[in-house]
Amino acid sequence: MTLLLTNARIFDGMNEECAEGMSVLIDGSHIREVSEKEIRAADAQLIDVGGKTLMPGLIDLHTHAYTADVDLTQLEKVGTPYNALHAGRMLRHGLHCGFTTMRDIGGGDWSLAKALKDKIIEGPRFFYAGKILSMTGGHGDFRDMHDSEHEFGACSCSVVGTMSVIADGIDECIKAAREELRRGAHCIKIMGSGGVTSPLDPIWMNQYRDDEIRAIVRECEERRTYVSSHCHPASGVRRSVEAGVRVIEHGTLMDAETAAFVAGKGAYVVPTLAIIFALMEGGSAMGISPVVMDKLKVAHKSAIEGLDHMRSANVKLGLGTDLLGELYDQQCREFTLRREVFEPIEILRQATSMGAEILMHEGRLGCVKPDAFADLIVVDGDPLKDIGLLSQNGERLDLIIRDGEIIKNRL
Ligand code: ZN
Ligand code: ZN
Repeated sequence: MTLLLTNARIFDGMNEECAEGMSVLIDGSHIREVSEKEIRAADAQLIDVGGKTLMPGLIDLHTHAYTADVDLTQLEKVGTPYNALHAGRMLRHGLHCGFTTMRDIGGGDWSLAKALKDKIIEGPRFFYAGKILSMTGGHGDFRDMHDSEHEFGACSCSVVGTMSVIADGIDECIKAAREELRRGAHCIKIMGSGGVTSPLDPIWMNQYRDDEIRAIVRECEERRTYVSSHCHPASGVRRSVEAGVRVIEHGTLMDAETAAFVAGKGAYVVPTLAIIFALMEGGSAMGISPVVMDKLKVAHKSAIEGLDHMRSANVKLGLGTDLLGELYDQQCREFTLRREVFEPIEILRQATSMGAEILMHEGRLGCVKPDAFADLIVVDGDPLKDIGLLSQNGERLDLIIRDGEIIKNRL
């Protein structure tokens, strides 16, 4: 199918100056031509954008499609079909918010990717990391103290875990990484520090030794991909980046010195404000334990300050949300939460061109140019002036195109 969009004001994912009166020709799943001149395409479906802002579809780099419950220790109990149906619900919601690409950075797998590809469910372009590698007692080990090995919860030294796999020591780490890469993982995610939602590990704790991290990094380099590391404390961020990790998730307890170090190494950070704020507001009512709520307060207190440090140091940032369970519908809040620290143009770049760079898809995603995937949205209004237009669950989007296919059209 060919599609011709006319009279568009284009934000290209990078430049604050938007060209007006533009035409975009889409052929199949790709953009073929972007021009200020009239494009002739006799058999194309015509859509007049009416001078509104056409921009690349949004990219959420930190999602977990299979987490049907905010309490991750419940994931095994509700069962695989329940988690999969939640995934369908949240992926569809995300797409209709304008997120034409999501990276599932823990849990998501080939099976879900196939369901999307075969159009059993409607959703965004889908990159998945497979199961997260965690050390015993680390953030991916959701057993409680009384649980013994291989018996309970999201930990999966056996085969049952939804989110993570336990691997200790260089050999196990290499094998676990190879296993996920074999299953088509886009990258390998590791738990590089303590986290909020796990019951036993302190949030300030650094996890994995540097030789274990290096071994995983090496496996990923052989596969021409990268390691992403969950890290809250600055010390954990430093250790991960020193060992060759390319992308840091969260980075909430970042200090100025570490931010400068990360920027100097050219590593990326994907902050996730949406989950922190959503859980702070609703966590207790949803039955989140006091231990977890206490850890959350630590992250909440420093998150904005951490972002300030990263902005000052010019760290390359992507957009992430990390929403769990019924909180999935707060995905668009990330835009308004980031307003505290960033200008709209910075947030827009994070959600488009920088997302594409982190995914190693520059020129194919997060831009509006020939040969890029036709993943596009039209905003009713100017998101460069009012980023809040993107935070209304797709209300202000007149057109959503993913992979050349019209998902929504109000024009
Ligand atoms: Zn186990
Ligand atoms: Zn996460």
